[in-house]
Amino acid sequence: MRAAEVKDLGCYINGEWTVTGENRVIEILNPADGSLLGFVPRGGAEEIDIAVKAAKKAFTSVEWKRMTPYYRAKFLYKTAEIIRENQEELAKLETLDVGKPFIQSKADVEIAARYFEYYAGIADKIMGETIPVEPGIIDYTVREPIGVVGHIIPWNYPLQIGARSIAISIATGNTTVLKPAEDTPLSMLKLVELIEPFGLPKGVVNVVTGYGHEAGAALSEHPDINHITFTGSVETGKKVMESASRNIVPVTLELGGKSPNIVFADCNEENALELVLRSIVQNAGQTCSAGSRLIIEKSIQETFVRKLATMMENLSIGPGIDNHDLGPVLSKKQFERINSFIDLARKDGITVLTGGERILIDNCEAGYYLKPTIFDGVPPDHYLAQEEIFGPVLTVSTFDTEEEAIEMANGTQYGLVAGVWTENAGKAHRVANRLQCGQVFINHYGAGGGIAQPFGGYKKSGFGREKGLEALRNYTQLKNVALKYE
Ligand code: NAD
Repeated sequence: MRAAEVKDLGCYINGEWTVTGENRVIEILNPADGSLLGFVPRGGAEEIDIAVKAAKKAFTSVEWKRMTPYYRAKFLYKTAEIIRENQEELAKLETLDVGKPFIQSKADVEIAARYFEYYAGIADKIMGETIPVEPGIIDYTVREPIGVVGHIIPWNYPLQIGARSIAISIATGNTTVLKPAEDTPLSMLKLVELIEPFGLPKGVVNVVTGYGHEAGAALSEHPDINHITFTGSVETGKKVMESASRNIVPVTLELGGKSPNIVFADCNEENALELVLRSIVQNAGQTCSAGSRLIIEKSIQETFVRKLATMMENLSIGPGIDNHDLGPVLSKKQFERINSFIDLARKDGITVLTGGERILIDNCEAGYYLKPTIFDGVPPDHYLAQEEIFGPVLTVSTFDTEEEAIEMANGTQYGLVAGVWTENAGKAHRVANRLQCGQVFINHYGAGGGIAQPFGGYKKSGFGREKGLEALRNYTQLKNVALKYE
């Protein structure tokens, strides 16, 4: 499949597919083998401006106002159905674009469909309250849409994150402009192409492809944006927040993580091994909620880590489309970034227990495949255990006491997710209570599929919550009305 199968590869603005001319395109490469999939427009400030204005016009249009919550919900249910009908094609496109194993892309497609269903169910249940104040006054609140919502999407889960953005924006009555990551825009364009015939008014959903410093910056700076949702790195998050502050608009920031799995000696070893492994190799470790630090009780460290290393060595690595356990990392640039961490750690004398090398695959020499890697005995304050690597690289640090484990787990600038592994329920809750992060999983792990579970960070992992009912707060604003009748 070539990317050219995505309708003309235009930006989708005001219900039209818009191209930007030959000299303003971005090459889209297949991470599996470096081959060219196609081109998308290199949208910039001009395209963003047209898209935001279209979204603004759509927001105040009679057509959109008349589309009641019930009809918006029907549209969202229909979208879920269309996504499922096109699961194979969407998953194939996601795998070609992002590199992830086909089975993981299929799961992403299912999750995308479920976002549409979940928020369809909520569209006609967004309600206010009546507040008892004083005799002769009726006081009530109304939860209203916020206006034009901008979404800036990262490259690692474009379909999942794009779907949740579109679904909640429509459910809450907002209009939206999405900017997919420059590396992986294909599934978002395909999704919009699939839902286009089903009657959404023009300008309600717009997708502008382009680079972050051009289209992304223009979107976050645009004075007609009423809310901006950003998922990506801390550094870019700071820039987006600065732009939002100039326009005094709210932002939701979902940034990186360095999430720990805390494994106690009294855990169910088999379950812990399986999920600790999966949490670091899924999407080749390029997951914001990856379990990238193993914090393990000293008494079981040796056997547990040896078994984990064997399990890692048995994973198959190859093109995502052939459904290996691990696909390539996104690009040469990502590989070099990951490799720089590995090189520096080696120079610092940290033990590589397994992995740490690129492997070459026949006919895919321009793909960047990395053996999943375990660094053992990592001092908790070493940069390897502090910085987000965004690859299949696990650090192992040990503890003797519960107190030490908690201190280590909380000892980075991030606070996205944590796993706690113990059969002692009291200990599990005691630890969960003290962890500084947005989600804690006890005896399991995995943020990706939890569409109903509020997701977001503490500390530098960001603020605001996506997913679940909690996300409605980002996309609505509250009005209080007081009526005096006496
Ligand atoms: P990134 O910050 O480089 O890019 C994210 C998005 O921002 C892209 O669409 C990019 O084009 C855009 N962008 C870049 N510069 C911009 C600018 N100046 N103004 C506005 N937009 C700009 O991050 P990435 O490399 O795409 O993704 C990897 C990072 O994202 C990791 O740190 C990861 O942890 C994080 N992430 C977080 C979550 C989460 O839910 N917390 C989910 C996925 C990824």
